[in-house]
Amino acid sequence: MIHERLANLKKTLPPQVKLIAVSKTKPATLIQEAYDAGQRVFGENKAQEMQQKHALLPHDIEWHFIGHLQTNKVKYIAPFVHLIHSVDSLKLLNEINREAQKNNRMIDCLLQFHIATEETKFGLDMEEVKQLLQSDEFQSFENIRICGVMGMATFTDNEETIRKEFRTLKHVFDLLKQTFFSGTPSFKEISMGMSSDFPIAIEEGATMIRVGSLIFGARNDSKH
Ligand SMILES: *Cc1c(COP(=O)(O)O)cnc(C)c1O
Repeated sequence: MIHERLANLKKTLPPQVKLIAVSKTKPATLIQEAYDAGQRVFGENKAQEMQQKHALLPHDIEWHFIGHLQTNKVKYIAPFVHLIHSVDSLKLLNEINREAQKNNRMIDCLLQFHIATEETKFGLDMEEVKQLLQSDEFQSFENIRICGVMGMATFTDNEETIRKEFRTLKHVFDLLKQTFFSGTPSFKEISMGMSSDFPIAIEEGATMIRVGSLIFGARNDSKH
């Protein structure tokens, strides 16, 4: 089942788009199934759950953290996390930098933007990001690499709303690239699009999509 779903999904993706298989709430056995089908990149939204799965599963898996991350949980994922998609404060970046230092490594991060009209979605706005990037504290971080931006569209059937929000994120990316990262080739990622809206995200410039239920089936917990 998973093998087939993955194969069908991958057929539709342009080669430059990276697929993050979102395995949150799913058992390690199902992740292993996707691994055996060739998938190496997985996304989780709870630090301890990700830590446990990392310990159980093959070590060439790329673990992407995609959920709201509390500062006191960074330590669980800092030794191995491949990319944190959901950085939404200077305080969190500071903690990631500290933990990265302790582990003697760089940690790649994306800045999460608030593009949806919903109040419930986390993320920064343009003013906050500019302040963050211009702060002395940010300049002092040596163990963090900002690789791009991430966003979640409003949960709606209205395709035009979704497209507009993804387009906003692409504009934000272009502006930041121009203003702060023109000499930084590693600033290149736009993480947007989930099971319901990834085709639109790809049309609007996504370089990474985060797809869960389409691969692993529906989750019981709709909050996840
Ligand atoms: C759960 C989740 C996804 C995947 O959602 P699906 O609808 O199952 O594809 C993508 N991004 C984030 C941030 C998520 O929390």
